[in-house]
Amino acid sequence: MPEYGRLAIDGGTPLCGEPWPSTMLGPAAVGQPEIDAVTAVLRSQKLFRFLDPATSRCAELEARFRALTGQDYALAVGGGTAALVCGLTGIGISEGDEVIVPAYTYIATPAAVLICGGVPVIAEIDETLTLDPARIEECITERTRAIVPVHMRGYPCDMARIMAVAERHGLDVLEDVAQACGGSCQGRRLGSFGRAGCFSLQQFKIITAGEGGMVVTSDETVFQRAALRHDSAMHFWQPAEGGVPPFPGENFRMNEMEGALGCAQFERLEGILARCRELCGRVRDGIADVDAFRVHRSADPDGECGISLTLLFGEGGQAQRFSEALRAEGIPCGSLYDKGIPDRHVFCYWDYVMRRSSQDRHGRPWTSPLHDQSRRYAPDMCPRTLDVLGRSVILSFSQTYEDRHAELMAAGIRKVAAGLS
Ligand SMILES: *Cc1c(COP(=O)(O)O)cnc(C)c1O
Repeated sequence: MPEYGRLAIDGGTPLCGEPWPSTMLGPAAVGQPEIDAVTAVLRSQKLFRFLDPATSRCAELEARFRALTGQDYALAVGGGTAALVCGLTGIGISEGDEVIVPAYTYIATPAAVLICGGVPVIAEIDETLTLDPARIEECITERTRAIVPVHMRGYPCDMARIMAVAERHGLDVLEDVAQACGGSCQGRRLGSFGRAGCFSLQQFKIITAGEGGMVVTSDETVFQRAALRHDSAMHFWQPAEGGVPPFPGENFRMNEMEGALGCAQFERLEGILARCRELCGRVRDGIADVDAFRVHRSADPDGECGISLTLLFGEGGQAQRFSEALRAEGIPCGSLYDKGIPDRHVFCYWDYVMRRSSQDRHGRPWTSPLHDQSRRYAPDMCPRTLDVLGRSVILSFSQTYEDRHAELMAAGIRKVAAGLS
């Protein structure tokens, strides 16, 4: 190992003394094409997507997501959470149903289940940082209707094993692809495995429309039900075919500025992914012989988005020390312990799930006679998830990084590993 000198955390000189580039992905790439696309919509004065279906940018964005995932239908909506609500409505999730979600996902995933009247059942993750296929079956009850695998941080879930569990038990699968747009698993795009797939185009995702989301499916009934949920007057704009009876919706529509921005960003998707994968690969190669940690296990290394790399330590204290020391070197990274605010991606901080509270005066859906009211939640209910996350140091990548930032990352990791050993 090369000699790097004293660690910055012990008073040495930081390896990187300059500010780190933006960690944003799509939003940091916003440029003239986005400005032109949104401006053209404003000039046209056609802001509402159903005003002129022939020129709708929202419809164009839907076509791109159909092409990306190979699914027959796509529905643009106002956000990723709206996409999940519409997707879950599409597959028929209702009061009394249980839906299995991983213990590591953004709080929006269980929120969408609750909004649909279902109850989330929290399942353990494994060292892929995604749903552990071996821990799904223990969560299944007579009320279980669906599994929601979440491809966290661009890491694909083990879809072959998850689909096999779902098929064995007659359950639907709805993929939450909010953090992994463009990723794949065994050569198939994420969002193409489940009965529905849901994307987000919010600021912190790979590509953005400012706000926005997308539901994809090849099931016409799922699509029609999702569309009804997304607009209280859907049957005026697009009369439902296939005999799906109408029901009230919520006006989760995407507007044309968002549609245009989304289309311009979509053009950047493959470029952003290619650059992030290259940077991530450089760091991986640069730390391959460091034995202080292992990198996360992957269901498909080639299908990852490359936006993140997780270092797994033997125990939590090591991860915390490593993360502090690496940040002192000027290299951004995160661990479960060094966030000033609770991380809403970890089940124990899903406050309204832990407390079983809701907007309903009668406490539904939790108190519904259709549900198993004995179901309880506790901050220690998924020890395996807390163990894996506690031992993790997470590095993020953006196309804004230059090659030397990948080299600095690898050098920083080597320096800290040598200095702490
Ligand atoms: C961001 C996110 C969502 C919600 O998307 P919004 O567009 O913010 O509503 C859902 N699931 C996951 C995993 C996310 O990261």
